[in-house]
Amino acid sequence: MTKLAVFSTKPFDRSSLEEANRGFGHELFFFETQLCTQTTPLAQGFPAVCVFVNDRLDETALRALKECGTKVVCLRCAGFNNVDLRVAAELGLTIVRVPAYSPYAVAEHTVGLILALNRKLHRAFARVRDHNFELTGLLGFDLHGRTVGVVGTGKIGSVVARIMIGFGCRVVAYDPVVNPDCAAMGVEYVSLRSLAEQSDIVTLHTPLLPQTYHLIDDEVFSWMKPGAMLINTSRGAIIDTKAAIRALKSGRLGYLGLDVYEEEAELFFRDLSDRVIQDDVFARLLTFPNVFVTAHQAFFTQEALSAIAQTTLQNLSDFERGTLDPKNVVTPAYLA
Ligand code: NAD
Repeated sequence: MTKLAVFSTKPFDRSSLEEANRGFGHELFFFETQLCTQTTPLAQGFPAVCVFVNDRLDETALRALKECGTKVVCLRCAGFNNVDLRVAAELGLTIVRVPAYSPYAVAEHTVGLILALNRKLHRAFARVRDHNFELTGLLGFDLHGRTVGVVGTGKIGSVVARIMIGFGCRVVAYDPVVNPDCAAMGVEYVSLRSLAEQSDIVTLHTPLLPQTYHLIDDEVFSWMKPGAMLINTSRGAIIDTKAAIRALKSGRLGYLGLDVYEEEAELFFRDLSDRVIQDDVFARLLTFPNVFVTAHQAFFTQEALSAIAQTTLQNLSDFERGTLDPKNVVTPAYLA
């Protein structure tokens, strides 16, 4: 049994972790606040902390955690871009994550964004609620026969590819590693440039790494088909957002669907409805009729929450016993 400090706790985190903990018996303490340098004193005396996507474990925060007696950081997510892995390794802190919980949750949300943007469901919903039954401006296109470019064909990207093949799309992919399941489905691997040139819809499913930071920049937008759709349910900083705004203004980009945003840590997972948004780039994004933003909810299904809680607490028990599953441990080797 380990004392675990859970940061960025929402009511749904608390209930899923408490439910899963019946089978483990760890001592859970919940904090609503994010974990960052200023809040690390809360971790005093906790050998284990549990964090989510926007908690900031930079060098200062990690050194402070070490001082507090923390030995293991349990990420209740797959991405690990918010942790300075080199510093964690230098300090001897173990970083564990949930590499797979429900690729279907994220893939299905991705397809939801594609459908909503194409058929303008966000605008149709608002119109009908206003008793406006006019169709002008809501014209979509058949997905059948279109080309979808999947960037990153791991667990989530391969599910997206399968669903889009089900719609009758042709799927091309860009990934340094060929996924044999995708190759068997008839997915054709091409360069990023060729993918951008051929695709009506480009969808991003790579981790955020130094190599994928601003992978989609002005140059990639210049290769894309005029009026193409871009979807990002991966990590915000894979797209250069200012370049995306330029592409939207020029019409090069016809649709943009985002579940993630590069500066989301200051915005997402909280109610700011009575505040003035200070982030002018994000505020500009929200003005486009052909941009659809959700606030990092692609993972958010019942199945995913249960699986995340189960694996997080299993990671903690395995850490105690020295039997951690190597695929759940994140090391600086991931940055190579
Ligand atoms: P995965 O590790 O199974 O797949 C990632 C794929 O990206 C791999 O096939 C890898 O070879 C490929 N890749 C790595 N570097 C690349 C590059 N430079 N160019 C092209 N491809 C590259 O990961 P996954 O489970 O499919 O998750 C993908 C990402 O989705 C995660 O890293 C995470 O950031 C994000 N995610 C978002 C949510 C959400 O709620 N929005 C939830 C879960 C995961």
